[in-house]
Amino acid sequence: MDAVEIFDTTLRDGLQVEGVSASVDDKLRIAEQLDSLGVRYIEGGWPGANPKDIEFFARARDELALSTSTLVAFGSTRRPKGKVDDDATLRNLIEAGTEAVCIVAKSSEYHVTEALQTTLDEGEAMIADSVEYLTANGRRVLVDMEHFFDGYKSSPEFSLRALEAAVVKGATHVVLCDTNGGSLPHEIEAIVADVYRHVGSDVMIGIHCHDDTGCAVANSMAAVRAGARHVQGTLNGLGERTGNANLTTIIPNLQLKLGHQCLPEGRLERLTVVSHHIAETLNRAVDPQAPYVGSSAFAHKAGLHVSAIVRAKDAYEHVDPTLVGNGTRFVVSEMAGRATIQMKAAELGLTMDGPAVNQVIDDLKRLEHEGYHFEAADASLELLMRRAAGWDHEFFRVESMRVITDELPTGDFNTEATVKVWVGDQRHVYTAEGNGPVNAIDTALRRAVQRAYPHLERVHLTDYKVRILDGSGATGAVTRVLLSATDGERDWTTIGVSPNIIESSWRALEESLVYGLLHAPTTGP
Ligand SMILES: [Zn+2]
Repeated sequence: MDAVEIFDTTLRDGLQVEGVSASVDDKLRIAEQLDSLGVRYIEGGWPGANPKDIEFFARARDELALSTSTLVAFGSTRRPKGKVDDDATLRNLIEAGTEAVCIVAKSSEYHVTEALQTTLDEGEAMIADSVEYLTANGRRVLVDMEHFFDGYKSSPEFSLRALEAAVVKGATHVVLCDTNGGSLPHEIEAIVADVYRHVGSDVMIGIHCHDDTGCAVANSMAAVRAGARHVQGTLNGLGERTGNANLTTIIPNLQLKLGHQCLPEGRLERLTVVSHHIAETLNRAVDPQAPYVGSSAFAHKAGLHVSAIVRAKDAYEHVDPTLVGNGTRFVVSEMAGRATIQMKAAELGLTMDGPAVNQVIDDLKRLEHEGYHFEAADASLELLMRRAAGWDHEFFRVESMRVITDELPTGDFNTEATVKVWVGDQRHVYTAEGNGPVNAIDTALRRAVQRAYPHLERVHLTDYKVRILDGSGATGAVTRVLLSATDGERDWTTIGVSPNIIESSWRALEESLVYGLLHAPTTGP
């Protein structure tokens, strides 16, 4: 099967998503991640649309050493009735200094006559002149055909004229865009097949889909079936409204299911880690249920088929998860039987004898009755299983912890925590202020332990959830705290349960640090 080029637009279209913003530094780090994944093109932004993108391209020239990907600057065709040599957009594109540029062109008759308020001849000339100018300046030119599918449905003649104008003037790619995201796979497949008959032998056909019908991945795949060999999308499907076509799904679909090589040899297995890295940089967690890369994508809950999975994993998984850098995970709860616990132990690399397995089953039943919920706290489960197998950590030992909150006469609140811990035979006493008790005890404990374990500098909390569980009878209500942390490579969640919210938070914090130390590159077991 032919190779399919991947064009990533996370740094341009992807950043249109609400609630996400990226600094120039963030964008440079993301570009490095995309290069390590091995996408063919990285669209860096729209120089001229904002100063941040001008700075990005300037710094990228000096600071980015891409080994696999080509950086692309995005812009548009010249203005209606304007001239290419005094067009600010085109000048900014050239000044970005990239080898390749991508320009958006109006390819729908309705948009030319209604949105631009100009003639079809001028609409065609805008494309032809701009492509000619950019190729004359030594740039490889990709043209995003905006509203192509909607335009083609109502007036195929103009949409094809727009394409031909770009091809004749030397564009290397014409990228058909479902800009409003309203098309369905059978429409995309039929229209791309028509386009392929017209220009398929002269130019590479690309596809750019949005997910407004929930079909962006399917639409991109349909386009490839009809002859497209260039796919645009974003990591984790980021993008405005419902998002762009999700490359973390499309790439493995094309490569593993249809045999189209999308990434260089050996890179597909970086998919999960790159997806999580980029999500972390943008402070936007990967959906646990995301295909291929989600934490639940290959998770099996205790039940009838667990012992069958041990015998034949491939009977219950559509692909081998290691191909995309993910792994099989067994979800354990109080319902778990011996087989599930044994599989979980194997997953964690623990050897557990019969009494240890029974111990885990008893502990789970008792703790879940008290309000623990281990399905949501894999790290605490791992520590519980290790303890049942006879292990205990020796990273640090807590002597005492105290936290005080005062209301000042000004109405402000002051919170201060003091933690006394032993690391080996060294006693450390640290006091820290915080914006609340959890923040203060986290800071104090971390400072006390960090001197001995510098790796903890990389560990930070990403989420803190509290739930009040209704108690029955004499036990009263208890609070359950779930605490998520990351060290940039690995994400984990721990749990604490107690009638006292400080105690449940403290338990979860302590376990979170222990887990972070256990899996640190230098202090692991
Ligand atoms: Zn778009």
